[in-house]
Amino acid sequence: MKLITLGAVLCGVSAIPLAADAALPHSPDAVLDALPAYGGDDLELTATTTSTRFRLWSPEADSVRVMIYPTDRNSKPERVIGMKRDTAGTWTAELNSGLYGKFYTFAINYRGAWLNETPGIWAKAVGTNGERAAIIDFSDTNPEGWADDRGPSLAAITDAVIYEMHHRDFSVDPSSGIVHKGKFLALTENGTHNPSGLATGIDHLKELGVTHVHILPSYDYNSVDEANLQANTYNWGYDPWNYNAPEGSYSTDPANPAARVREMKRMVKALHDAGIGVVMDVVYNHTANNDDSNFSLTAPGYFYRHNPDGSYSDASGCGNETASDRKMMHDYIVNSAAYWAKEYHIDGFRFDLMAIHDIETMNDVVSRLHEINPDIFVYGEGWTAGASPLAADRRALKENVAKMNGVAVFSDDIRDAVKGHYSDASDRGFATGKMGNEETVKIGIVASTAHPQVDYSKGNNSKFAYASAPTQIINYVSCHDDLSLTDKLAVSMPESTEEERQRAARLAQTIVFTSQGTPFMFAGEEVFRDKKGVHNSYKSPDSINAIDWELKTRNASQFDYYRELIALRKAHPAFRMTKADEIARNLKFEDTRNTPLLIDYTLNGRAMGDEWHTIRVAFNGSDEPRSIKVPKGEWIVVADDGNLRADGLLDSEGRVRSSRGGNVTVAPRSALILARPATKTK
Ligand code: CA
Repeated sequence: MKLITLGAVLCGVSAIPLAADAALPHSPDAVLDALPAYGGDDLELTATTTSTRFRLWSPEADSVRVMIYPTDRNSKPERVIGMKRDTAGTWTAELNSGLYGKFYTFAINYRGAWLNETPGIWAKAVGTNGERAAIIDFSDTNPEGWADDRGPSLAAITDAVIYEMHHRDFSVDPSSGIVHKGKFLALTENGTHNPSGLATGIDHLKELGVTHVHILPSYDYNSVDEANLQANTYNWGYDPWNYNAPEGSYSTDPANPAARVREMKRMVKALHDAGIGVVMDVVYNHTANNDDSNFSLTAPGYFYRHNPDGSYSDASGCGNETASDRKMMHDYIVNSAAYWAKEYHIDGFRFDLMAIHDIETMNDVVSRLHEINPDIFVYGEGWTAGASPLAADRRALKENVAKMNGVAVFSDDIRDAVKGHYSDASDRGFATGKMGNEETVKIGIVASTAHPQVDYSKGNNSKFAYASAPTQIINYVSCHDDLSLTDKLAVSMPESTEEERQRAARLAQTIVFTSQGTPFMFAGEEVFRDKKGVHNSYKSPDSINAIDWELKTRNASQFDYYRELIALRKAHPAFRMTKADEIARNLKFEDTRNTPLLIDYTLNGRAMGDEWHTIRVAFNGSDEPRSIKVPKGEWIVVADDGNLRADGLLDSEGRVRSSRGGNVTVAPRSALILARPATKTK
């Protein structure tokens, strides 16, 4: 534990040194559980032009002080104010003057020692590297038209098409043609293009047709030195520092606390103006540091779970795990998410390692967010990265999602069954010709809901229908974690040509985008981006992570396929059912038990109000043609032999291709989609 550096001369109090290697002591969990909670909405800072009030929750502190600074770092405090003990474990100080433009930190005296200074846990604006909290006027940070700004409205999460993106991946490569590379402002630039003239940036997103971008952690995180941005350090950002302020390295000026706030809002506004929502990746489950985190320096021990010996338990695999089952941590998560929704108009939240949180907290997050905006949706990783002291029946696990109405979980079932296991690079899946995954793909197709034709006992991952509705499932075959789909295909199909791998990628994503549940894709897969085989690229350089936008020209037909696939899904409610019983009634599988690597089903579009009364979907994961029996009649051919067009494939004369049914071939490693439109009334 570091000692505080605060000048003892200024405040007349000496720091009592602790041994440099001593762990920060804390009370037993039972004592922490019983500490008084504070329910007010004025924690830490309330600022106006004429007054400044501080209120820190630190129930076990012996004394607390707040330091006022003229700059964001490298300066001595101009004032040090002792805070007074107040209600419910809080300490207060009030000044009858406005302090806009100043910075502050808190320090607590705990068990005889002054701990390091901290900006607190509710800093909403910060300077360089988030060392000090800033006092700014938030009304000055709103872009023009902010009061009327709205994200896209959704009837259900299943109407969303989610695009997961890292700010640097998306814009930092010179081929993006974007001015503000790697910054929030990259997503405000219209008219950008690659050297061949194809759209990049926000225009690319509009062209692709995704409804929401999911931005990797964009709160202030620890690992990128904001004082040395010319080093171009890359990090995913799963190392939270200040949860309620944007990350400085994504702003044009990390030393200016208003800049990161203003620029992130401009990003949200520009995306909203393009009809695209913004999902934020939130990582409340652990912090970058242990004893030196803002949580520890504010209320030692309180915000974390512990092993029986008092050490940090580690369900995150990152050295600690937070304690959502403790009142003030529960409130913190709920209030922090609500803050982002209100102040930044965030449309959705992705909870990292969500199962570290308890079910009640996740349900309270959803209720609170829906009070702000009923269109906000919440999804998360329904697992932990290690053992947790929290009882399994209380965890927000995938298997417990039925207890969390309004929460969706990532389907590792469909992910691993379609492309092969995530942790075994050479393992193949259904789309790459490995038998034995058929039933698990079907589990994915019905969004892990109960279905009379799906045998969950044959599931590779989960053995029961854990979702009570398709709105609880996020379908995907890759994300920032693990090998990108392009790399996974290269490793698991070593003898293949790039054309064959692109064909497999099309099949894999067609399964995802036509399945019930909500589709999710990793940015750049539409242009067949790779990460040069690096699976855990969390701190790899731009040369690994950046999307080369020349790929959009080179892989133009791949991009066209993804765009059409997204258009297909958006045009047809039959792919977007919202209730389990709708799927059970209106999605019928053919019996393909005797034909490995073939899945064949029919959607009753008529029952879902779809202009296509019947949709036939078949996937062939093998490298041989398969034959299916289709009722005789007039069918539009929507997808066939590695091609797809939302309004139907065209023949050489530009007419929509049709099929008369009967025995129809499903070409190797591809999807066949046939549609029967509503009969025209004469
Ligand atoms: Ca930072």
